[in-house]
Parts: sequence; C-alpha cells; structure tokens
Amino acid sequence: MSDAPTTEPCDVCGDPTTDALARTVRLSVDRANIDTQRLCPDCFADWIQRYQDRLGSGGDEGDDTSEIIVD
Ligand SMILES: [Zn+2]
Repeated sequence: MSDAPTTEPCDVCGDPTTDALARTVRLSVDRANIDTQRLCPDCFADWIQRYQDRLGSGGDEGDDTSEIIVD
C-alpha cells in the first residue's frame, strides 16, 4: 500500500488537485442536491465569493431554502 495522494482535476480550471487540497462544494435546494463541484483552493475562493455576492445582492426573491455544504 502506498500513500500516494489521489489527484483529480478541479471541476472549474482542470488543474490536478490532491484530495488534501480540494474542496467539495455541494449546493442543495429544498434538500435536493443540485450541484456538486470539486474545486482547487483558488477556484474555491472564487466560487465562495461569487456565491456570497449572489446572496448579498439577492434582493426580493430570498425565499428559497438553499444551503451550501463544504466538505
Ligand atoms: Zn481550479
């Protein structure tokens, strides 16, 4: 058995990213899993910022029960 890290590409930029560095983001709405992405640290930071921007400027349609889960 070896301890070679699992390396899979980032879903956004395609950079090989080890499990130790990757973040898996799950976005669910009404308990349905609508989006799962494996992101490298750079894309994760970008993704979170965009998500928060969207929440912050959401305005009137703030009725959905969306939830974000980060592993
Ligand atoms: Zn990336």
